[in-house]
Amino acid sequence: MKITMLGTGTSYPDPERVQSGILIESDNENVLLDIGSGVLHRLTQLQFDLGDISAIFISHFHVDHCSDFLTLCQSMWLTHSEEPLRVYGPPFIHEWSRGVRDIAFPYLTEKLDVQISRLNENEITQVGDISVSNCPTIHSTVDTRAFRVESEGKSIVFSSDTAPCRSVVELARNTDILIHECNWLDGPHPEGVHTSPSELTQIIEDADPARVVLTHLSPDVVQNTERVLEIVSRRTEAKVVLAHDLQSFEI
Ligand SMILES: [Zn+2]
Ligand SMILES: [Zn+2]
Repeated sequence: MKITMLGTGTSYPDPERVQSGILIESDNENVLLDIGSGVLHRLTQLQFDLGDISAIFISHFHVDHCSDFLTLCQSMWLTHSEEPLRVYGPPFIHEWSRGVRDIAFPYLTEKLDVQISRLNENEITQVGDISVSNCPTIHSTVDTRAFRVESEGKSIVFSSDTAPCRSVVELARNTDILIHECNWLDGPHPEGVHTSPSELTQIIEDADPARVVLTHLSPDVVQNTERVLEIVSRRTEAKVVLAHDLQSFEI
């Protein structure tokens, strides 16, 4: 599998980082995890054929994880994508889709065959040779899912947005790459929203992934890269990196 970090930023404006998005390519399929603002532009920078997207998995309905969905639909229509676009997300996906497509932009609904499906907890979704399982995270009051993507005997886990969460640790156990959010530095923060570097130290020790890629990085975190890496790497042998947009990994 090839993993490309399309967007590694947050909702804070950052000239170097767009919002959440990951492209996963297997031998036969291409899956997107999240489609935040700027992700469509990153795909076009890669000269990626939008008609080749097999499915999109949206982790939750905060704008930084789904706001390029409509621009993608419009671009797919204009580039004559023939295949249906499969979109998966937490149960609220049907209300969200009705709001942003049928109500806000009804002219788009007839232009593209979009197939919306809700993700049931711990259910496995098969997309060709890729299987995707999910679990709920802890992220304020919004139903948010972490994903484990498996193909060809390899696995990637994407935490999406979450405070330290036991079910995400279980999902990530012994994975080849754990892509975990690191939204803010250590310090006083609202409970149950995001994860700090010191909290990641414990998560990584427990999950024991082979490699760790930090994403959902606020400018504060990026400005303190060395300090963050030192904290997060304290109790693991795994290689830990702060991701940047368009960085890719092969497993
Ligand atoms: Zn969020
Ligand atoms: Zn977010």
